[in-house]
Amino acid sequence: MPPILLAVDKTYPRGLMWFRRDLRLADNAALYHALRSCRAVFCAFVFDEELLDGLPRADRRVEFIHASLAELDAVLRERGGGLIVRHAAARDEIARLARALDVQAVFANRDDEPQAVARDNHVRGALADTGAMLHLHKDRAIFERDEVLTRAGQPFAVFTPYKRAWLAKVDEFYLKPYPVERYLDALAPPPADAESPLPALQALGFETTNLAALDLPTGASGGGRLFEEFFDRHIDQYDQLRDYPARRGPSYLSVHLRFGTVSIRELAGVAHRLALAGNAGAATWLSELIWREFYFQVLWHRPDVADGKSFRPEYDKIAWHHGKHADGLFAAWCEGRTGYPLVDAAMAQINQSGYMHNRLRMVVASFLCKDLGLDWRRGEAYFAQHLNDYELASNNGGWQWASSSGCDAQPWFRIFNPVTQSQRFDPEGRFIRRYLPQLARLPDNAIHAPWTAPPVELEAAGLVLGRDYPAPIVDHAQAREQTLRRYAVVRSQDKQKD
Ligand code: FAD
Repeated sequence: MPPILLAVDKTYPRGLMWFRRDLRLADNAALYHALRSCRAVFCAFVFDEELLDGLPRADRRVEFIHASLAELDAVLRERGGGLIVRHAAARDEIARLARALDVQAVFANRDDEPQAVARDNHVRGALADTGAMLHLHKDRAIFERDEVLTRAGQPFAVFTPYKRAWLAKVDEFYLKPYPVERYLDALAPPPADAESPLPALQALGFETTNLAALDLPTGASGGGRLFEEFFDRHIDQYDQLRDYPARRGPSYLSVHLRFGTVSIRELAGVAHRLALAGNAGAATWLSELIWREFYFQVLWHRPDVADGKSFRPEYDKIAWHHGKHADGLFAAWCEGRTGYPLVDAAMAQINQSGYMHNRLRMVVASFLCKDLGLDWRRGEAYFAQHLNDYELASNNGGWQWASSSGCDAQPWFRIFNPVTQSQRFDPEGRFIRRYLPQLARLPDNAIHAPWTAPPVELEAAGLVLGRDYPAPIVDHAQAREQTLRRYAVVRSQDKQKD
């Protein structure tokens, strides 16, 4: 619920604010409710062993969280609080901490990923044993769960009517920020016996990555900076620039949305007001924020998609390519050695930075399942491991969109051509040249498909195919035919629905 400014009723003497994916002070729903309902509020963050143990030892996300926590801790200290940081299994640690601090309530923002829901249920039970409450609040979305339904009370399965209903429902009430600053005098510093400075990354078992060298500012200050820059320079042109990976068209805010170093109310609020004033770029950007919530509600209503189930069950009948040859194709895709420059440049982007442009996510995902005939779940897992902004709902939604098995997905017979996508969205090969310097000297017309270049052009570019850059690992036209046959198992069902 957005804030209702009544006289402050302090229900609890002491409370604990449990930060998770909401690493900011401003406009933080759970923090606002904690400060309003408790006389003293402690703040904590748990580096959850159950999550961290499964990650590679060099992980930009852990470093992003670490840097963002350092900033949050400093901001809290300036206001009389400070973070208690633990490295443990959060499901047990929160109740332990609540007992040690003698709090009557724990406040956190809701996370609807199935694993997080199970963890929170466990925490709620453990807290109840000590007589403390767990209060969860909506913070990461404007609308979630059952808040936007069809007139028949069903979840939407198509984006456009969902967006229409979302826009019909939204107003300033939902977009209004929580005035956290007014209540900060309830912040309590960590008690001396719970004082725990932020452990070094190495003490958590992680190595430093190249995060600092990337153009990705961390923390709430970094999120704010990126948003200002996007707002001042790009939002008006977003609808025209967003599909061109060589241009600075998108906002690059996804990782900040993931870890809550920006507030969705602020972002959607600005976009909505501009859109109402006729700004086409802002209206398109708002649509993207609504896609994010569309996929949140898909996951909420169909948590089985997180267990690898297709949204449309008939798509689980598709026989994907398996075995040694398939493993080789998958390795080439991961390492950017497919011989299709746009695909390979995109994979270099994710491998070097943890980010991939949205158009390219669609291209490489389509390439994996519709050119290589590989199970989309392999690509989904690779993205989950490498994306800084990895978000279960959006990643699963994106992969199921590309493989056609998802909610409001690309039709199964629509197959991106990686060469024409390249000609259309990177016409001068600027993005390709940035990530594949070995192709830099090819002329624009040859860079999208080097194998079609006459030998004299290859020679002039100093390029030997098979030595400096691979020949294509599949023939797109043949792969397309195979895919149409592979997808024939879903054809009959689709015809019945038409
Ligand atoms: P902008 O273009 O500035 O968009 C603003 C915000 O809107 C994004 O930060 C994001 O929160 C949201 N958004 C934009 N497009 C989408 C979309 N198609 N679906 C859902 N939300 C969207 N996004 C993630 O945040 N995490 C993921 O793990 C993820 N995996 C994806 C996998 C595939 C196969 C595909 C096709 C898309 C995936 N996306 C994912 C969506 C999208 O590619 C990214 O959100 C976007 O590229 C992030 O860059 P940006 O912040 O500059 O986006």
